[in-house]
Amino acid sequence: MQIQVDIERYKRQVLIETIGKHGQQKLFNARVLVCGAGGLGGPALAYLTAAGIGNIGLCDFDVVESSNLNRQILYNYADIKKQKAPVAKKRLEKFNPDVKVEIYSEKLIEKNANDIFKNYDVVIDAVDNFQSRYLINAAAYETSVPLICGAVCEFEGILTAIIPKENTSCFQCIYPEKPSAEFTSKTFGILGAIAGVIGSMQALEAIKLILGMHCLKNKILIFNGAENTYRIRTISKRKDCPICI
Ligand SMILES: [Zn+2]
Repeated sequence: MQIQVDIERYKRQVLIETIGKHGQQKLFNARVLVCGAGGLGGPALAYLTAAGIGNIGLCDFDVVESSNLNRQILYNYADIKKQKAPVAKKRLEKFNPDVKVEIYSEKLIEKNANDIFKNYDVVIDAVDNFQSRYLINAAAYETSVPLICGAVCEFEGILTAIIPKENTSCFQCIYPEKPSAEFTSKTFGILGAIAGVIGSMQALEAIKLILGMHCLKNKILIFNGAENTYRIRTISKRKDCPICI
């Protein structure tokens, strides 16, 4: 499909030598699924939309709560008690009408995850609980779809890319022990700006993958906003990992 849009909109990124018109076409043809439209998913979705990713999937069954608003930038007071997915779709499509946004307002479970994932080139894990993260990691491996994981806690955030086709290490190699189901984002603090940094970096990693650039595979980036530090560590595959071995 050739771009049938106002190319002027993308002029500043087309000027980047590694993107150009050819790269912009790749972005416009790409299909990216974002699981979770909250503190991480909001900025990730906003920057994917701004970049002109042609087909964006958005998976979230939650409703907007007042306590979301310190970090979930797609919503405002008038959206409280509304389902997040349709509100986010409306806002993103208004922001960039070139982008098609498909929403999945059901809870991601083993049964539907593979069916949804196989329609996408990249999946972004922007959920707020470990149970969903393990499920997303397994579904990405089963469907061979690259996965960008991000997570935040207080002033710290992490980021990694998992590429099943290259048999890289996976999320369960990093966190082999499943924490209890009660361990969710509701049990610890998050500063919105930290979620903004990591969510934006998730969009960036997805864009780089689509453009065929280097990504954070077999590595984890650990960002500490309080200390202004970025550390990158190598992740080794676990010999007993049930997902990626
Ligand atoms: Zn693994």
